[in-house]
Amino acid sequence: MSSRCLVLCSGGLDSLLACAILTREKIDVTALHFEMGLGVSALARRFGIDASPHPVEQRVKSVGATFRAEPLRSDYLKVLLHPKHGYGSAANPCIDCHAYMFRTAKGIMEREGYDFIATGEVLGQRPMSQRRDALDIVAEEATLDNQIVRPLSAKLLPPTEAEKRGLFDREHLYDIEGRSRHRQMEMAKDFGLNDYPTPAGGCILTDDAFADKLREYRANTPEGDMTLEDLSLLSFGRHFRIDNNAKLILGRNALENGLLEHFKTGRIMIVPDYRKGPQGLLILPLNKAVDSEQCIRASASIIAFFSKEPVTVFPMKVLDASGERAVTVSADERDRAAAYKSINN
Ligand code: SF4
Repeated sequence: MSSRCLVLCSGGLDSLLACAILTREKIDVTALHFEMGLGVSALARRFGIDASPHPVEQRVKSVGATFRAEPLRSDYLKVLLHPKHGYGSAANPCIDCHAYMFRTAKGIMEREGYDFIATGEVLGQRPMSQRRDALDIVAEEATLDNQIVRPLSAKLLPPTEAEKRGLFDREHLYDIEGRSRHRQMEMAKDFGLNDYPTPAGGCILTDDAFADKLREYRANTPEGDMTLEDLSLLSFGRHFRIDNNAKLILGRNALENGLLEHFKTGRIMIVPDYRKGPQGLLILPLNKAVDSEQCIRASASIIAFFSKEPVTVFPMKVLDASGERAVTVSADERDRAAAYKSINN
């Protein structure tokens, strides 16, 4: 029976190459893809709005590996909010995030009998998470010392347990180091890989606009009230902090309007009764008495302000746990809503 391994797979070129190299060694490879559940595309998939095949799954299959998606658990919040090793350029706690992924992978490996874990990490490629000391920190924190195979840089690193056990031939691995992508692109050609994203694309935590929204959210939300669902809500829409510390999120297009519907439980949905314009999700602060009517009026005015409808009164529906009712915004109220500035754009 062949050996089995889990490859941490973002779907980028390096992790796909790691899968390809190990399948070439006749290893049964499962590509473990962490679903952050953040951003319009990921949420559209999660809620079945986008039923097309997962793009990472297609790429993984093309190199002969099996795809496995792993959702983030709520303990990821602690990693994001209090990273021991700090943030990268935005809200990306890359070293702690990698350690979290390795810990999760290790649990799966031990429960399900995989032989080792591998990644597409390249020594010295990323300033924060792929320095030699960062690779060691991650392995140590996940208690995976000497057990992580990094096929692209393996010849520059000490032999791992898997190599010592002879599960594959170390001589077939590589000695890539640094930021140039030249060798990886040559290898992609050799493996017949031509569909892969650019290296810069990807994680929303590296996005400055998301980091701004996260900072604002933290400043206004007691930590005990924070949830993964709130993080998903930070990853799309136009956000406003309005009266009574309430939060309003507007959809910026039809897809975002549709996504907001999936978060309405326990919140207030405000839907225009005219054709062109955003709908809004109103989030009242937990454990605090607030003037919800004032918040609804302010929200409806902002929604009207962003309407493209050539009218002077704006009829809307307000939907919450108690049912549905109507509210109307006048042109004056709409104009006064210009005073509310969005947290992002
Ligand atoms: S880029 Fe994003 S997903 Fe990747 S390690 Fe950093 S925070 Fe985690």
